[in-house]
Amino acid sequence: MAKSRHCQLPSVTTVAGRSSSITNAFFNAIIPVFEPTEEEELEALAILGMSPENIVCAYCGDLPTEWDHFRPIIRGQRPTGYVTEIANLVPSCGKCNQSKGGYDWKIWMMGPAKRSPKSRNIRDLKERINRLQQFERWRRPREINFEEIIGPTLWNQHIQNWEDVIKLLRKSQELASEIRKAVVEKSRAAGGAN
Ligand SMILES: [Zn+2]
Repeated sequence: MAKSRHCQLPSVTTVAGRSSSITNAFFNAIIPVFEPTEEEELEALAILGMSPENIVCAYCGDLPTEWDHFRPIIRGQRPTGYVTEIANLVPSCGKCNQSKGGYDWKIWMMGPAKRSPKSRNIRDLKERINRLQQFERWRRPREINFEEIIGPTLWNQHIQNWEDVIKLLRKSQELASEIRKAVVEKSRAAGGAN
């Protein structure tokens, strides 16, 4: 096959490559959502210097596409205890949300992460940080200790399920790799395309 400089061959997809998104799904699935009232939403926006007619990404000022968890809800493959509620949500653009990940918001904003506000040379960075600090002081967010609330039996079962799924992914990956190699070898031996 002629290799074009502009077109990449499809790469080998792996089963185990899904591990981190599955880990996130396991912990996202237990995070409760407390819907804000309209008043709470207005109050949060006002603290951020916004109104419903003028909502921008709280980190960079671009058009927002989603509410970001201001304090990460998952870190180090465990829930942090923070949940989905107005005291922990700020409007964000997709670029910022993806770049921020599990970082502390202020360290990330002023840090060199790819697409962080600092590395994108966002204007008014100090002003934005100032607003977000006010937001941080606005309300004490819930901090949930899942294991304490539901008890060790259910909690350990959930962790066990997660570990079993990850183990099965690894095992499935080994088999998938073997199958792929065998198919290549047998096809070559049979004089197929080379
Ligand atoms: Zn942004």
